Amino acid sequence: MNEAHDSSSTHADASGDGEPRDFIREIVTRDVKSGKHGGAVVTRFPPEPNGYLHIGHAKSICLNFGVAAEFGGRCHLRFDDTNPLKEDPHFVESIQSDVRWLGFDWNDHLYHASDYFQQLYDFAVQLVKLGLAYVDSSSEDEIRRDRGTVKQAGVESPDRKRSVRENLELLDRMRRGELEDGSYVLRAKIDTASPNMKMRDPLIYRIRRVPHHRTGDAWHIYPMYDFAHCLSDSIEGITHSLCTLEFENNRELYDWFLDALDVECHPQQIEFARLNLSHTVMSKRTFVRLVEEKHVRGWDDPRLPTLSGMRRLGYTPEAIRAFCDRIGIAKRDNLVDRSLLEYYIREDLNKTAPRVMTVLRPLRVVITNYPENQVEQLDAVNNPEDEAAGARSIPFSREIFIEREDFREDPPKKFFRLAPGREVRLKHAYFLKCEDVVKDASGEIVELRCTYDPATKSGSATDGRKVKGTLHWVSAAHAVEAEVRLYDTLFNEPNPAELMDERGLENLLNPASLEVLRGCRAEPSLAHARPGQRFQFLRHGYFCVDPDTTDDVVVFNRTVGLRDSWAKIEKKLQPSST
Ligand code: ATP
Ligand code: MG
Repeated sequence: MNEAHDSSSTHADASGDGEPRDFIREIVTRDVKSGKHGGAVVTRFPPEPNGYLHIGHAKSICLNFGVAAEFGGRCHLRFDDTNPLKEDPHFVESIQSDVRWLGFDWNDHLYHASDYFQQLYDFAVQLVKLGLAYVDSSSEDEIRRDRGTVKQAGVESPDRKRSVRENLELLDRMRRGELEDGSYVLRAKIDTASPNMKMRDPLIYRIRRVPHHRTGDAWHIYPMYDFAHCLSDSIEGITHSLCTLEFENNRELYDWFLDALDVECHPQQIEFARLNLSHTVMSKRTFVRLVEEKHVRGWDDPRLPTLSGMRRLGYTPEAIRAFCDRIGIAKRDNLVDRSLLEYYIREDLNKTAPRVMTVLRPLRVVITNYPENQVEQLDAVNNPEDEAAGARSIPFSREIFIEREDFREDPPKKFFRLAPGREVRLKHAYFLKCEDVVKDASGEIVELRCTYDPATKSGSATDGRKVKGTLHWVSAAHAVEAEVRLYDTLFNEPNPAELMDERGLENLLNPASLEVLRGCRAEPSLAHARPGQRFQFLRHGYFCVDPDTTDDVVVFNRTVGLRDSWAKIEKKLQPSST
């Protein structure tokens, strides 16, 4: 396991010299001390393979694998694959690679709920024999109707009185595939008047005569989550079954099955608050809609909070882990601002991303006193935050590109960049002075005529004169063509999930969530940049090479911006009322 992950153990305080940092670690510390489960700590991350993982899952992964590592235990990866209608082996692959990418390792402990289908069935038979389960011929609609409401007790099914022998016979026929989908279900016989709706004779098995991606045609009935989950936990010797708050009401049922079956290992279910991130959604169902309705390009669209989307955007596993570490584990749901995640991304990339120069909206500059056909190589430091990153050389020549927004014909106050008659510094190169502005017939500026001062190569003038602005640039003849994709949040509202029913998904989307810039000019060192490589574009922020890159055009995603001080000044200067 890597460094960043190990470092989390330094403040976990499993060692006992300090307070555990959250209520779950407090419980685990207590259990280890008291010798519960022989002092063992075994956790699991139990995704259903019906979609890609998102940043919320990352919180759960960091918690489960983190707790196990801190207490010298182990964490299982278990696929909760009990619903063949919704699941796909493709997701099994992607989930595994996402967990690995995040920096965690389940070693030999990869499991599937479907591994336990026979054991689970045997448990169900046992419940029937104990008189604690029955086969019901009510339809699923009737069962829903007869369950009652929070205020009103449910109605008992006439089949509740069926004899054990008859129940066993029917269950066997269900298993053999002799009975139609929906004709019968197996239910637990608990209490149709329980104040906890989950306890009103919940379903245990449904008939689904469909093949399963792992067990093929072996089964015609599939177990329900509440039955399969607690027993899978128990079979694997899980000690602490950590899940999100929406399962709080399921806990009573979790314990009921384990008590009724008198199993050897009875894990403790503990609920924690899920991660909600501002300006996005965190539900697979909504992702499916966004993808199917083509609001995004796919599951790995950089605007989605899926791990594959965030990876494509350029987020690093180190930064995501640091973020999960920081938000901690609590018992109350809240909304975490996206900017906190971005803070950790910047922190990490600042240390690791090489600095390069890319001009997003190019404006041609001809340096009239620079010899034609001359090219010189200038030294450029790769990362001032990392000496080991070394330096590279970049070509300088008579024609360069600068950023269009770095020139103003009529500069406002506090605009310290280029303007007619004004001098600025070119990063890693010379002072440059604007002598003339060339416009086309429509009056648009198409080129600047400038001069440079050969005596300013070190970045300062020999006569001591100062310049206020430093611009990035690229040599026109050497530049690499780039496409740059600028992203904004997918939703305008901080908490779109809350407004979804009222206003509709499409009305909540930010129409400006993606801006594509073509014809950008990057320095020649980026010609061979590979998908996944990350860079800091000077003055623009952090960018990651996209897999759409071709031999001719390098495609970049903006991972996160730098804080742009001029944009802030300009905003302030704008009159507040019109
Ligand atoms: P859906 O998006 O369809 O509701 P899910 O996100 O709950 O599904 P699972 O595969 O069931 O998907 O989740 C696996 C584990 O991840 C569960 O233990 C679940 O509690 C946890 N988890 C899911 N979403 C979050 C979240 N936002 N924050 C923290 N943990 C989460
Ligand atoms: Mg779920």
